[in-house]
Order: sequence, then structure tokens, then C-alpha cells
Amino acid sequence: VSDRIDRLRASLEEPFLVTNPVSVRYLIGFHSSNSALLVDDMKLTLYTDFRYAEAAQAVPGVEFVQTERSVYKDLPGSLSGRVGFEADFVTYSAYEALAKGKAELIPRRGLVEALRAVKDDAELEALRAASAVTNEAYTQLAAEPFVGRTERDVAWKLEQLFHEFGAEALAFPSIVAAGENGARPHTEPGDGVIEKGQLVVIDAGCIVGDYCSDCTRTFATGPLPGRLQEAYDLCLKAQLAGLEAVRAGVNGRDADASARELISAAGFGEAFGHGLGHGVGLMVHEAPRLAQTSEDTLVPGNVVTVEPGIYLSGLGGVRIEDLVVVTDNGPEVLTSFTKELVTVD
Ligand code: ZN
Ligand code: ZN
Repeated sequence: VSDRIDRLRASLEEPFLVTNPVSVRYLIGFHSSNSALLVDDMKLTLYTDFRYAEAAQAVPGVEFVQTERSVYKDLPGSLSGRVGFEADFVTYSAYEALAKGKAELIPRRGLVEALRAVKDDAELEALRAASAVTNEAYTQLAAEPFVGRTERDVAWKLEQLFHEFGAEALAFPSIVAAGENGARPHTEPGDGVIEKGQLVVIDAGCIVGDYCSDCTRTFATGPLPGRLQEAYDLCLKAQLAGLEAVRAGVNGRDADASARELISAAGFGEAFGHGLGHGVGLMVHEAPRLAQTSEDTLVPGNVVTVEPGIYLSGLGGVRIEDLVVVTDNGPEVLTSFTKELVTVD
């Protein structure tokens, strides 16, 4: 943990006030919904309220200061000189509260996020563990009947499987989207009954050791209309091309293009309306991004998804998503459940 603080200090131009709970958790392992960590050259000061006081006193290497219920209201008196803050996280109201003090507030962006984008060995172990649970859950789910069940019922079954295989929580609300619903990339599971001859997009992940997994597989419930079969085969080809491109030194735009060009060349370009992938760690969406507008360059230790999709309005959708560790050579794929089209009952 102190290594993370050292890396952060190396990027600072003034004392830095960290208030995003995910950033605080990453830097010092402290869990709360209301805390502030002031990082300067000499020391670490942790501000939080009564609910977290006992836990805060147990954090090694920090000076603990108890505040009222809102850290922002109590902080201004303790701050002076130039102080950086997380501009992408602090709300306007919180900024107003901070600005009542004497400190000169300097907006900073992406400092902790840049550190979080490169995983250390302990983080990689947690990401592998979360993915292993996901692989087992998908394997069990594929043996379940789909036809005649609602999307919500299948989602619930998957969530039970995550729990049975040792997950702490869901990484995000699971997506189970059958038939036409599959054409909406981030729809919610509904009461619709799954029928024969559909594609069913299942995008889900769990949390193990604080770290998220993220995996999408698309199942068939019997023989498919030709256009859906074509979309599946093309999506898989594009996904494999995307994986091939993901390695250290490649920028997020080029990785995205490697998959997108195949889909566009086959005439489905309009049907792939999102980026190729995103970083995953403590949060299911974090840096870096693989997308047409990405400014990131991949480095070893990035953990990203590779998830092209093809969405055909009124017909169905397909998305295939792996979670991978970026290395100097090929990617280490963490989501090992098969990507060949699996037909379920
Ligand atoms: Zn996903
Ligand atoms: Zn994803």
C-alpha cells in the first residue's frame, strides 16, 4: 500500500485531497462512504466521521481526524496553501464547502485513476479469482434450461451460482437479454419469456477480494435465423482480432480498430455502436479505454475487456466479452468459458 502512496506522491505538485471512496480504498485499504485522505510530502491525514472512526484508527501510517457527518463541511479550516482535489469526483456543493476555507483549490484529474490502471501482483490475483468464479458460474448456467424461463429468472440463477462459487457480490447488475432485447446493449432483464431460436446475451460479473470480473457470452436457444448466425460468427472473428491486437505499446484506438474494421467491412459497422473495451479493477469501468476516441496506450499490467457487439434492431444482438491482462506478448485471457456458440435448451 505504501508503494501506491509513493507512486502517487511522485505525480503531485501540491498536497492532494483524495475524496473518491474508491481512490481512498485503493491507496490505504480503508472502506467508507465519507472520508478524505490528505496526501502531502510528509504525512497522510485521514478524515472521516464517527461511523468509521474505529476502523480509521486501525489504518497504519495515517493521522486520523474525526469529522462531522460531511467531511467537506469540516475540512476547510484544516486546509491551507495550494491543495489539489479530484475534479472529476467533487460535486459543485462539495466544492462550495471547501472553497469557504483559505486553501487555494487546484483541480486535478486522473491521478489515482492512472495508478489504478496498472495492476500489481495482488490485484492480478484477485482479478483472476473473480474471473475463475465467473467461468464456473457460466459453465453451470449453460447446463440450465433457458427456453420457457424469464430473463430475470436466468439472471437470478446466475447470481446464485456466483454466490455458490464464492463471490462476495455482483460487480454490476447482470444483463440477460433474449431475442430483440439483445439489440439493446445495456438493457435490464425483464419478464419476457425466452423462446426457441433466439440469441441470449448474458453480461455479468462478480467481486472477489474487492476486484471485479466482467464477461459476456451469447447463447443460442436452437437453430438461428441466418442473419443472427452470421452476426455471431462475425462478432467472434472480430473479438479474436481484438484480442490479437491487445498488447503493450498499442494505443486504445488501434486496438478498437482491429475489431471494428472487420465488422464494418462485413456491412455491420452501424450495428457496433460502443467501444471495444474498458479497464476493470476495483470498479467495473475504469482506465484505460479501447475506443475510437481513446488517448490511452496499453502497458503491461493493464486489465481490459475486449467486447465487440453487433446489435440488429428488432432481431437480436450478440456480444462476446473477455477480460484480459495486457502483457508484452499476447493477452492473458482470464475468462476461459468457451466462445464457440453454445446452444442451450
Ligand atoms: Zn460486461
Ligand atoms: Zn464490459
